[in-house]
Amino acid sequence: MTAPAAAAAGAATSDVLVVGAGVIGAATAFHLSTLGAGSVTVLDRATVASGMSSRSSALVRMHYTFSGEVDLAVRSDAMFDAWTELTGRPACVRRTGFVRIVLPSEVDLLRANVAMQRERGANAEIIDAAELARLAPGLRTDDIECAAWEPHGGYGDGPIVAGDMLAAARERGARYRPNTPVAALITDGDRVTGVLTAAGPVYAGTVVLAAGVWSRPLLASAGIDLPIETELHHVAFARHPAGAGIGVACIDSTTRTYFRPEAAGNLTLSGGEVGEGPRGADPDGTPLTPSDDLLAEIVESAARRLPVLAESGITRGITGVLDMTPDARPLLGEVPGHPGLIVAAGFSGTGFKISPAVGEALAELITSGAAAHVDLRPFRPSRFAEGAPIGPVLAYSDD
Ligand SMILES: Cc1cc2nc3c(=O)[nH]c(=O)nc-3n(C[C@H](O)[C@H](O)[C@H](O)COP(=O)(O)OP(=O)(O)OC[C@H]3O[C@@H](n4cnc5c(N)ncnc54)[C@H](O)[C@@H]3O)c2cc1C
Repeated sequence: MTAPAAAAAGAATSDVLVVGAGVIGAATAFHLSTLGAGSVTVLDRATVASGMSSRSSALVRMHYTFSGEVDLAVRSDAMFDAWTELTGRPACVRRTGFVRIVLPSEVDLLRANVAMQRERGANAEIIDAAELARLAPGLRTDDIECAAWEPHGGYGDGPIVAGDMLAAARERGARYRPNTPVAALITDGDRVTGVLTAAGPVYAGTVVLAAGVWSRPLLASAGIDLPIETELHHVAFARHPAGAGIGVACIDSTTRTYFRPEAAGNLTLSGGEVGEGPRGADPDGTPLTPSDDLLAEIVESAARRLPVLAESGITRGITGVLDMTPDARPLLGEVPGHPGLIVAAGFSGTGFKISPAVGEALAELITSGAAAHVDLRPFRPSRFAEGAPIGPVLAYSDD
């Protein structure tokens, strides 16, 4: 049944139905309601940001090796800047500054990437070791020739961003139905026409699938297979005297870690490639806390760049599951041959910082047929079937 026929028969309908109230679904609903997309409904099996958005380290940076991601990050950053104007809520990003350190053999790539990012509007520059030591006291800099620096970088908070976006969407008329698990997509031929919930079907002109690591089984219910695999990721929190940790956010390829301040400056959050689990983690069957050994390994690695961590007590950890694609970039847009469905999944550990721009681009795609501010075509879900994954020429070896 199509949405108009369902409405005539008295069934639940919506012009656009968003599955998932994480940062991506909430941002999409916000922009849909701002652009006047008609009736917008957001369904979540639990509550807003109850998925991986609540586990995110939430770093905000524009340093990417693929220009399309830079565009999404730059556009999102402008929206984070205008947060109060957009959503009516307090600013949601802490602008600590962001440092990117790469392997010594990849410094030329770093310079080229910063040049590319600046051309696309990123506030980024190359700084030498002395300047880095001045900007980020506490960081070991004796093995560094230079680093990329974003004075505007920092970090945010997944539940706040998702909560603000959803609340602002509801103020503009969007409906929110928490505790409503979707069991399957409903199809009429190849067209996706709605979703099946325990409370019955809900029909829609367009279904946006923003269910993160839970997206693949829902796609399978409509006979669609997209390459989204799950991967464990672990984060550690270490305590030290306030001000003794790092004041900035940092990603460091030499230690294969990232870190940033947390709370009132007496905690450092660190994570990274260390201890990443094998593919195929069950997002519902994964321990919520990493083992003590794993936490120690993460902090030990990060301490090679931030020595205070070697003397800091580990207070707790978080386990999260990433929705990885083969090229580690998201799947955004229509699935050819399946009208009525928009996919927004496979964020591969980078979805927080780009969520406002992704939501805007998808809302524009739905309301006007194309994204107006960024080019979504490189992210099309069909790119792997076409043999055209994203492969930036300036990629780092650990991209
Ligand atoms: C540990 C960790 C650290 C990270 N660090 C960063 C970082 O520093 N910077 C960055 O930019 N990104 C980071 N990320 C990635 C980023 O957090 C994610 O890409 C982003 O939060 C994904 O948002 P989402 O809305 O797609 O998914 P989610 O937040 O997982 O939301 C999906 C929603 O769908 C709902 N759902 C699932 N199945 C169903 C169903 N059947 N019916 C109804 N609802 C359903 C879930 O309840 C959930 O609320 C990190 C991720 C993790 C796990």
